[in-house]
Amino acid sequence: MAIDLQEKITVSYLEEEILFQKNIRLGLLRLDRIHPVVSGNKWFKLKENIRIAIRTGKRHLLTFGGSHSNHLIATAATARAYGLGSTGLIRGFHARENLSPTLKDCLDEGMELIYLSREEYKQKQNVEFLARYQQQFPESYIIPEGGNNDSGRIGAAAIAQFISDSASIVAVPVGTGTTFSGIRNGLAPHVTVSGFPVMKGGTYLQEEINKILHPPAVNWLLNSDYHFGGFARYTPELIDFINRFYARHSIKLDFVYTAKMMYGLYDLIQKDKMLAGSHIIAIHTGGLQGNRSIRHLLEFEI
Ligand SMILES: *Cc1c(COP(=O)(O)O)cnc(C)c1O
Repeated sequence: MAIDLQEKITVSYLEEEILFQKNIRLGLLRLDRIHPVVSGNKWFKLKENIRIAIRTGKRHLLTFGGSHSNHLIATAATARAYGLGSTGLIRGFHARENLSPTLKDCLDEGMELIYLSREEYKQKQNVEFLARYQQQFPESYIIPEGGNNDSGRIGAAAIAQFISDSASIVAVPVGTGTTFSGIRNGLAPHVTVSGFPVMKGGTYLQEEINKILHPPAVNWLLNSDYHFGGFARYTPELIDFINRFYARHSIKLDFVYTAKMMYGLYDLIQKDKMLAGSHIIAIHTGGLQGNRSIRHLLEFEI
């Protein structure tokens, strides 16, 4: 598997009447081009974790995810590429004949799947729960759900090096906030980092990110109105936006993360919430494999 960062990461500048009218430069940093399944921010969050796993002699990665998780399939594929084994602790039980495309791919990449009840899964951050799995898999390095740890943030900070010095605003879709915090830490203070949470509960994230960032107050905000009903929820309007965006720019967006960010950005631009003259870089964090669950609604191949 070639994960050749420098070569594949480019910026696609969007040309469009509204951007011209409002005097906004808007580019997409194409992390989706890194690899078909190890796409986008997941690779950045994983690479520092894997470096530590290998340095400390671990031969196996153990992590968590739901049945459509981008993080899970990225972990499975990366582990294999580095000659490591992998185990996924999965939220909920799934019959073998009824697996999601994501879980099937995980098995194909050699990941062992262990199904946890939703109750058990909630303990994913519990110290004793984790110690039990560490004992059961002594050779394993445990990565939290979504790659949400210090190493994940350090890895994500490296995304900043692909962002032009002339950017004034960087837009990022927000799940756990790991990528957002990493990028904030990696950029110069004068750049505004504008996050788009994809689930309800932006206030909680606001506090979490405040705890993580050092210093906490520098030039960032969350736009919490673009969750479209919650995590992995969508409306006909969002689907229509994805299809129209593809028709205009030949760029695919995923419905869980990047579509919500781009919809939000256009809405803010339309409402004059972005200063004329802004140079915005939006991070296309990938995640296109997740579109397989809504394939029937999309007007492009996935
Ligand atoms: C996981 C993911 C995110 C969110 O990243 P966090 O670091 O959890 O905030 C954004 N975009 C895509 C495509 C993802 O898969």
